[in-house]
Amino acid sequence: MSPSAAFPRPIDSANTPRFAGPATFFRLPMVDDPAAVDIAIVGVPWDGGTTNRAGARHGPRQVRDQSTLIRLVNGATGVCPYDLCRIADLGDAPVNPIDLTLSMDRITGFFARLQDGGARPLSVGGDHLMSLPILRALVGGGPPVGMVQFDAHSDTLDTYFDGLRYTHGTPFRRAIEEGLLDPQRIVQVGIRGSIFRADDRDWPAQQGVRLITMDEVETLGPAGTLDTIRAVVGDGPTYLSFDIDAIDPTFAPGTGTPEIAGLTPREALRLLRGLRGLNLIGADLPEVSPPFDPSGNTALLGANLLFELLCLMAESVGGPPAARADQT
Ligand code: MN
Ligand code: MN
Repeated sequence: MSPSAAFPRPIDSANTPRFAGPATFFRLPMVDDPAAVDIAIVGVPWDGGTTNRAGARHGPRQVRDQSTLIRLVNGATGVCPYDLCRIADLGDAPVNPIDLTLSMDRITGFFARLQDGGARPLSVGGDHLMSLPILRALVGGGPPVGMVQFDAHSDTLDTYFDGLRYTHGTPFRRAIEEGLLDPQRIVQVGIRGSIFRADDRDWPAQQGVRLITMDEVETLGPAGTLDTIRAVVGDGPTYLSFDIDAIDPTFAPGTGTPEIAGLTPREALRLLRGLRGLNLIGADLPEVSPPFDPSGNTALLGANLLFELLCLMAESVGGPPAARADQT
C-alpha cells in the first residue's frame, strides 16, 4: 500500500457527478480534527473590515461551489496535492458580522486550534483584514515571517474613518507593527491604481517592503518578477496572500475594490507556478465577492488560483508525514 492510500481524497467525479452532494473545497471530506490533516482548507466568511463595497463574506461558499470543477492533478506541473499530504475541508471560522473585534478574536482562536493540531491553513475570504487575525495565530510570540502578497493595493494604510485602525486597507501595517511580519521579507506584486495621498506608499517602502508595481511587473517580465520575489523572501518561513483584485477586473469583476490594468489569469498562473519550493507556512485568497460576480467567473478563477496555492503548499509540506519524520 502506498503511503498516500490513506490520505483523504476528493469524491471521484467520474463516478459521482460534480453537481451532486454538498459542496466542499475540491470535493474533499469535511474534517473537524486539525491533527488529522497537514493542510486545512478553510473559509473565513467575514467582511467586517470592508470600507466600501461589502460582499466577500459570501466568498467561501461560492468558491467551494466552483472548486468542484477542479480535477486531481495540476496539468502544468504534474503535482497531485492529495498524493503528497493529508488535506481536507475544515469548515469555516466562527465570525460575528456586526462585531469586528469579537470576530478577529474568534478567527485567531480558530486558526490557533489549527496551528496547535499541526495543520497549515489555506484560507478563502472574506476581506483582506482576515489575514491579520490569521497571522496572529500562526506567528504570534514567534519570530516574524516573510510574505508574498499579490494585490492591487498595499494594505498598509494607518487609519480610516476617524482613526479606526482595523480595516481591509490596514492589515499589513498592523502585522508589521505587531512583529508578525518582517518588512524586509515582504514583497507586494501588482500594486496599482489611484491612492489617497501621494505619500501613501512611502511608509511600507521606508520599512523595507518591496513593492513591485504593475508597471514594474510589465518591465521586469515574469522571470524578472520571480527573481525579485525570491530575492526578497528567500528560504525562510513565508506566508502567501493572493488578493483576487490583483487580477484585472475584466477577468475578476467580483471584488469590492477593482482596479483596472491588472494581472491576467495567464500571468498569475505563471507567477504562482514559478514559486515552487517556497517555505510556505500558510496562504490565503481574500476579496472574492459573489454579489458583484453574477456569472460566477470570479469565484471560478478564485477556485483555480486556490488549487495552485494548494499545490505549492502540498509540495512545501514535503510529502507524506512518514517521509518528513525520517528527515528529522
Ligand atoms: Mn488586499
Ligand atoms: Mn486589494
